[in-house]
Amino acid sequence: MKINPINCTNQYNKNDVSFNGGIPRKIVCFGPPASGKGTQTSHLSKELGLPHVDMGSLLRSAIASGTEEGLLAKSFIEKGQLVPTKLIAKIIENMLASSKCKDGYILDGFPRNIEQAHLLDRINQRIDAGKKAIFQAINFEVSPKLLLERIINRRSCPQCGEIYNTKFKAPKIENECDICHIPLRQRADDTAEIAQARFKTYDEQTAPLINYYKEQGTLSSIDANGSIEEVWTNLMKAIKR
Ligand code: AMP
Repeated sequence: MKINPINCTNQYNKNDVSFNGGIPRKIVCFGPPASGKGTQTSHLSKELGLPHVDMGSLLRSAIASGTEEGLLAKSFIEKGQLVPTKLIAKIIENMLASSKCKDGYILDGFPRNIEQAHLLDRINQRIDAGKKAIFQAINFEVSPKLLLERIINRRSCPQCGEIYNTKFKAPKIENECDICHIPLRQRADDTAEIAQARFKTYDEQTAPLINYYKEQGTLSSIDANGSIEEVWTNLMKAIKR
């Protein structure tokens, strides 16, 4: 079932002063591949009126437009490995420092290791320049058994980016976007083989972020095993905390 962000507004009042009060709000979401971050962060972005900065999509567009970074990144993505931080540092820094992110952002897929968490801290310090900002890290927790099924059945619309799952969130017409009515695509790295490498990369490099943000006192972990609506409810509870 599809979440309608308009229906979700009654769960969360974005005019609530305690929520933002003009202070930039920076939300970082991380979790294993196919933990549902993409779907949830895209709805969260609409709900809070903050830009959705999705590192994986930025890299896929760089590949599609044949930029130098894109071509270099491709070989790492195809192996389920992380693209080296030095290759993406400028992309993320330029994006977060842009006027689009002046009220904050919903960051999806960055940071993905401790080196990137340090980089993000430095970028934020520079952008905030001593002014107050609210920072929160959300960890999506999902049972490993569910993840593979989500990955191999995931499809998305090449035009609007809407995410489907042939098993859990099928389009109305087989392999066709409900919104754009064009054929859906499967990501090149959403195969069982590359997924195993991506899980390993997550365990070794991304999972340590849990302790990093716990120690910083900015971590909220949410149960992301349920339906899209259930995870949305859990996410809203964490955001309101
Ligand atoms: P995603 O769309 O978030 O699943 O990302 C797809 C792939 O892009 C990952 O498996 C990595 O190869 C690469 N990628 C995405 N975000 C990052 C990041 N922050 N650092 C390095 N590589 C990344």
